[in-house]
Amino acid sequence: MSQALRFALGQKDIPTHWYNMLADLPEPMPPPLHPGTKQPVTLQDMTAIFPENIVMQEMSPERNIEIPEEVRDIYALWRPTPLLRAVRLEKALNTPAHIYYKYEGVSPAGSHKPNSAVAQAYYNKQAGVKRLVTETGAGQWGSSLALACRLFGLECTVYMVRISFTQKPYRKSLMQTWGANVFPSPSEHTEFGKRVLAQDSESPGSLGIAISEAIEDCVKSKNTKYALGSVLNHVCLHQTVIGQESIKQMEQAGEEPDVIIGCVGGGSNFAGIASPWVQRKLAGKKNYKIVAVEPTSCASMTKGELRYDFGDTAMTTPLMMMYTLGHDFIPPKIHAGGLRYHGMSPLVSHLYKLGLIDAVNMPQTRVFEAAVTFARSEGLVPAPEPSHAIAAVIDEAVKAREAGQKKVILFNLCGHGLLDLSSYDAYLAGKLTD
Ligand SMILES: *Cc1c(COP(=O)(O)O)cnc(C)c1O
Repeated sequence: MSQALRFALGQKDIPTHWYNMLADLPEPMPPPLHPGTKQPVTLQDMTAIFPENIVMQEMSPERNIEIPEEVRDIYALWRPTPLLRAVRLEKALNTPAHIYYKYEGVSPAGSHKPNSAVAQAYYNKQAGVKRLVTETGAGQWGSSLALACRLFGLECTVYMVRISFTQKPYRKSLMQTWGANVFPSPSEHTEFGKRVLAQDSESPGSLGIAISEAIEDCVKSKNTKYALGSVLNHVCLHQTVIGQESIKQMEQAGEEPDVIIGCVGGGSNFAGIASPWVQRKLAGKKNYKIVAVEPTSCASMTKGELRYDFGDTAMTTPLMMMYTLGHDFIPPKIHAGGLRYHGMSPLVSHLYKLGLIDAVNMPQTRVFEAAVTFARSEGLVPAPEPSHAIAAVIDEAVKAREAGQKKVILFNLCGHGLLDLSSYDAYLAGKLTD
């Protein structure tokens, strides 16, 4: 073999701690506010829907938070994930840049989301919770939580946006295979769902409606809590195993990245790869360029504004200081379902405000062009979400070519696209528009 292409770690290299970016922020984040009183939320406010151990973690100032052994044992089913060098893509682009990707698609659910789902199921189990309830759009989060609940012996109920439930049924099948109870939302199972159906019996549903149903189910049921798959601090925290492993693997490769790239929906996979690198940047190791990539049609950072806003459409969540398009913004039906969120994680928003990271947006057709270029050079079929990152990687690699400059690029390939082939069909048939 001519050169090293794959940088694998062993089970003993699974990180022992999550890295809490909050501990190193040069300026503290504005606190979430109670929607009624407009005062900072209290532990009691939050424990209506989350167990206390998770709320404590959400607010924790501790830099390194130990990963429980039971969680690391489950991580070992797919972690550490591989880091690969995309030499065939480099060749296809005729670029002097070196391109590395951290591949999170090897988890049982096919994305980074189980990194947090497993941790959340563990803490709920510890707290004596019997059942978790959540919402899901296209099903990536729902399937990750279904898997995690199965592994810890918890019941799982998922409100899945009705149009995905009927049109993209395979992640529903995954959830049911892992034993979750899946309702198309709006459903007859909640008062809120019934109200929506009374107005429009054909309602296709939305993430906002599904969140409202999940929260209603949670507060009305015994021994039941709610789980969220992105946005919040504890979710970003759990994802930092990605960035920590990538630092070790880049050392193995004997290279230091110049640019680090990830896609952003709610911000968790990006925070996961970026936070440990931001820590190094703050420590003066190197002035990495760290880029968050969002869809042009739902660009909260590059087109939204930084202010307090609700996390959901029904205005029931705390107000969070974040880049937002407004809680009533209805994102267009782009194929990257995981990136259709009106806001951005307060943590990622704060890093952007402080100038520690950059943001760009990518239109859907360029994203699929990049996805197909990647699949035809590297073989792997990426999910539409990380294909946003790939489009930005290609831009950087082309810039390096034009400047005749060696550049080292690292990106997070946070999921595979094998359950998104209908989107590829649409692109290949020329039916995708911006
Ligand atoms: C859910 C999802 C996203 C978007 O969520 P983030 O919290 O921004 O990471 C991106 N990619 C994949 C594969 C997803 O499943």
